[in-house]
Amino acid sequence: MKHYTNKDIYERDNFTCQYCGWSGAHDFESWNRGWLAIDYVKPRKHGGTDEHDNLVVACHTCNSVKGSSMCNSVEEGKKIITTKNEQWHKWFTKYVLY
Ligand SMILES: [Zn+2]
Repeated sequence: MKHYTNKDIYERDNFTCQYCGWSGAHDFESWNRGWLAIDYVKPRKHGGTDEHDNLVVACHTCNSVKGSSMCNSVEEGKKIITTKNEQWHKWFTKYVLY
């Protein structure tokens, strides 16, 4: 079986966050701001493996928001992130914008 390196994962995902579509491929500023990393779709804490099909490129924001929530697929991850962002939005509206 082929051993996948981080570089392979980045190239497969075109240096783009698989959850929100942030691309870091165009210029260094985008790359640096997105702070792309490799995310475990199914977190290790929930038994996720480091097989390439469990690894995707994710920006820092999505990675942080998703955290170690139980998640089985990129689609599920997107839903988790959307739900948490809605909660953050309410929080922001209540405490920051008031
Ligand atoms: Zn993202």
